[in-house]
Amino acid sequence: MGISKTALVLGGGFAGLSAAVHLACHDYEVTLLEQAQTLGGKAAEFRRDGFRFDTGPSVFTLQGVIKDIFDLAGRDLPFELEPLDLLCRYLFPSGRVWDVFQDRRKTMAQLMANEVKVYRKALLEAKKLYESSASTFIFGKPPSLADLATYGLRSGLQAHPLKTLPQLLEGLGADGELKQFFLRFATYFGADPYQAPAILHNICWVELGLGLAYPKGGIYRLVTELERLARDLGVQIQTGVTVKALELEGDTVKQVKTTSGDVAADNIISSLDIIRTHKLLGLKTDLQKQEPSLSGFVGLFGYKGESELKHHNISFSSDYEAEFAAIKRGEVATDPTLYINISSKTDASDAPPGYENWFVMANAPALDSTENQWSLEDEDRYAEQLMVTLEKRGLAQKHELELKQIIGPNKLARFAHRGSIYGTASHSLLKTLRPPQQIKGVSNLTLAGGTVFPGGGIPLALLSGKSAAELIIEHAKQVLK
Ligand SMILES: Cc1cc2nc3c(=O)[nH]c(=O)nc-3n(C[C@H](O)[C@H](O)[C@H](O)COP(=O)(O)OP(=O)(O)OC[C@H]3O[C@@H](n4cnc5c(N)ncnc54)[C@H](O)[C@@H]3O)c2cc1C
Repeated sequence: MGISKTALVLGGGFAGLSAAVHLACHDYEVTLLEQAQTLGGKAAEFRRDGFRFDTGPSVFTLQGVIKDIFDLAGRDLPFELEPLDLLCRYLFPSGRVWDVFQDRRKTMAQLMANEVKVYRKALLEAKKLYESSASTFIFGKPPSLADLATYGLRSGLQAHPLKTLPQLLEGLGADGELKQFFLRFATYFGADPYQAPAILHNICWVELGLGLAYPKGGIYRLVTELERLARDLGVQIQTGVTVKALELEGDTVKQVKTTSGDVAADNIISSLDIIRTHKLLGLKTDLQKQEPSLSGFVGLFGYKGESELKHHNISFSSDYEAEFAAIKRGEVATDPTLYINISSKTDASDAPPGYENWFVMANAPALDSTENQWSLEDEDRYAEQLMVTLEKRGLAQKHELELKQIIGPNKLARFAHRGSIYGTASHSLLKTLRPPQQIKGVSNLTLAGGTVFPGGGIPLALLSGKSAAELIIEHAKQVLK
């Protein structure tokens, strides 16, 4: 019997699109099913009255990953990537404003002498952590026990296995504002910085050392161009189709039950939240009992006038630890740290002349196990609070609000178990290791997406799609041998 070259990809976010493109580049006939009317999943776009907003991801790192996908298909990158020299403006409760550039000299020129030393040391430590772990935990195949043992012997101690992130930073001499600054990068993996293991310090290197870029046309342009590429390569994309069940017969998924009928395929990649995939299979998973990663509240505001903010901004709360203690209790912080993204600072066409498009995000706890903890009205109320916070901090009162749109854990729960953005929480060294891409006892289903190896965020979700496709391709080669 020949090896089938057909595959079904469930979910059309970054991971599903990446998996579909990789398989199509290896001559698989691919069908992709997506429940929503548009692709992108957590990455979406909102347009109204001349404003354009990316409503999900806005920080774009490791741009080489998407370039590699277009390279594999023999295409040039179909959009410009504008490198951002000014990575982020930080606003501290003390009134201090610190602009962090990719050019370290410009960043450090704003620091006091003792802080410069700490900044250098912390950055060097992050670089070491990233470089010693990236090949095993980001760019490779899901690590085998042998890979983990090799990493453990080679670099295990360097990963500070017994330390938390705050302990590592304190050991490097970071305190006060510099500590708050370095702690925040753990949230990029959905972790509470105060419970995060030291290894998550590697994340800041990805932004501070390797840099950020802005895709011309917005982050959603990555989705539309990946979709165009997938269609060009022959991927059949069906939107508005919800997968209702994955019917197992023995160790094989025989039928994929959907709202538009039953489908069968030899190879299936599910890029849905891993817990949702288990539920569709009718299987239990211990992951359900584990603590979920952070969720978030996002307010999209159109403001009149020109603010002093930049493209990426962080306005810190006065008590970062209390903020995460509230989240740990399942509450929203009353004085949250705000991430403010204003893409019209880089691309003026994202807002009408004389206006700015503000994406404002605060961390939030995932929904409780009933998923009823917040109502949509609560989410609206919290958005009012985000605006009050902006005003209290002197960031927004000059501006006239033109439009308001809210996204909270409830809406995120359409894509993610309990609205948690990054799967289970990475609150120990072992838990930073994302779940593997195969489920024991299920032979023709491979997992992809931000809740499995190598993790969440645009580049990692893309890599998980690549890795899932490669597992299928490799398996087919083994069978043919
Ligand atoms: C508010 C917010 C801000 C973020 N900020 C950043 C950032 O700045 N930088 C960054 O790199 N990352 C960021 N992220 C994380 C990043 O967006 C995600 O990690 C990434 O988009 C995940 O992609 P994915 O393909 O794994 O999952 P998803 O995007 O969740 O895709 C899964 C897809 O499956 C579909 N689906 C689910 N169930 C079914 C079903 N039963 N049948 C059919 N289809 C189904 C969903 O509709 C969805 O399209 C952010 C996320 C959010 C929500």
